[in-house]
Amino acid sequence: MSHQPARICAVITETTVAAAQQAIKRASAAADLLELRLDYLRDFDFTRTENLRSLLADKALPVILTCRAVDEGGKQPLDEAIRLPLLIEGAKQYADYCDIEAAHFESAEKLSPDLSKLIISYHNFAETPANLDAIYERLLTIPAAIHKIAVRANHLNDTLAIFQLLQRAEVEQRPLIAIAMNEVGAISRLLGTAYGSRLTYGALADDQTSAPGQFTCDELQTVYRINQLRRDTRITGIIGNPVAHSVSPVMHNAAFAALNLDVVYLPIAVADLASFFTAFVQPESRRMNWPLCGLSVTIPHKVAVMKWLDEVDESAERIGAVNTIVVAGNRLKGYNTDAQGAMEPLEKIGALKGQRCAVLGAGGAARAVLYGLTQRGAKVTVLAREDRKARLLADEFQVQGAALDTFSQHDFDILIHTTPIGMRHHSEGESLLEPAALAACKIVYDLVYNPLETRLLKAARQAGCVTISGLEMLLAQAALQFELWTGQKPSVELMRHAALKKLGPAG
Ligand code: NAP
Repeated sequence: MSHQPARICAVITETTVAAAQQAIKRASAAADLLELRLDYLRDFDFTRTENLRSLLADKALPVILTCRAVDEGGKQPLDEAIRLPLLIEGAKQYADYCDIEAAHFESAEKLSPDLSKLIISYHNFAETPANLDAIYERLLTIPAAIHKIAVRANHLNDTLAIFQLLQRAEVEQRPLIAIAMNEVGAISRLLGTAYGSRLTYGALADDQTSAPGQFTCDELQTVYRINQLRRDTRITGIIGNPVAHSVSPVMHNAAFAALNLDVVYLPIAVADLASFFTAFVQPESRRMNWPLCGLSVTIPHKVAVMKWLDEVDESAERIGAVNTIVVAGNRLKGYNTDAQGAMEPLEKIGALKGQRCAVLGAGGAARAVLYGLTQRGAKVTVLAREDRKARLLADEFQVQGAALDTFSQHDFDILIHTTPIGMRHHSEGESLLEPAALAACKIVYDLVYNPLETRLLKAARQAGCVTISGLEMLLAQAALQFELWTGQKPSVELMRHAALKKLGPAG
């Protein structure tokens, strides 16, 4: 495996030989090599190594044979006297590598493995041990073609330990595969190969992942362009908690690719802002050596992030939240593209000056919308389930405030819904307003984008209102972020296409 680039390794986790054979064929379009997880197979005769001949008959990629022991994540108990010869002889005769756990090497050694085909691995599904360096050193005492360390990251700094290990291996010129599992380990799966890991593992389908936090090969290849990432590829990403289902990576990465920009956008699950900024962002303290150029900020960090920045632009200051960070040299500057992003879809329909606007909800998104509307001279009333909250916010932005249940007592041209009600996996199918209350509005705009047509928007459409989905804001605020980082305008249609694909056919 010294001949790089062989980077994406498709993990085959089928439970039948026939399905595994099909998957081996499919893998050649999706990956650079494949790992066949024999321990997943239910109808395979493990006692006969020559059974691998037909199983691997159609292999077009280099193959790693793996048959995990149960204590290292294996799917079925197998006698070591069967498991180890299968791997060692299988690699010699039919495959390119076998992966054997360091803990089981003593028995394996007696079987004279071909060291040029041996991957020696260490797994820890519970944590990233503090003595990872010592573990690595112990691993190195076992001769092998490649060493592998896969540990569970419980904190983003655990991922840092993986990058430090990769750096060490590179300096010492030792082939290493190093991965931090779990959602917080995602950046090691995405950037690891650019930073020296010999490969990163991917599933062939969403429901076939073999370890926590694993991406699909398709995501690695087409969304994150793993094979093109280098150490100097500029880094952007979204920080929030959680971020695994964010639509932003597919949108931004599609736009970077279309403009041929050497920039990648990563999902970065951040629970603790202080340690993230210290270890990964602040130029003077960071331990992660990467060319970070910008970040999107989402729930729950939009307000708290402000104290970590050197500068915050006027609109973000007024809104009281930052959704975009630009890293310019040693300075971190915060922006809020939500306000302009929220207004653009409305302004495409007409000017907002003098329009009577209802803003439902009094949270973070409402603040951005209020800022945008008041800047444009709209006549705004903010309505919240708690009258007190509505009035407090209204006073701050010098607009009217009222309780949500008084909605039908007012006349509005435009309704902007900024609560999460109606959102998928939250309260899908619900709406804060009865359809009859919408008839007088000309435009109904729901900031919720999943589903694309919420119950509120469906009722508004049926009442004859012009409707706007939250997807429009999502795209507009993302396009503005993209411009802040790159100075270039992205293709919004391409971003839309990527977002719709990720959201699924029904949005
Ligand atoms: P937030 O700060 O938590 O605010 C949520 C607001 O909704 C609060 O005022 C809350 O009232 C209110 N609320 C929640 N449940 C309610 C209910 N059952 N009845 C009445 N009011 C209720 O959240 P946010 O950041 O503003 O985000 C809100 C929504 O906007 C989310 O769905 C988010 O996905 C969407 N959003 C979309 C975009 C986009 O680009 N399309 C951008 C930003 C946000 P209390 O204060 O009384 O709890």
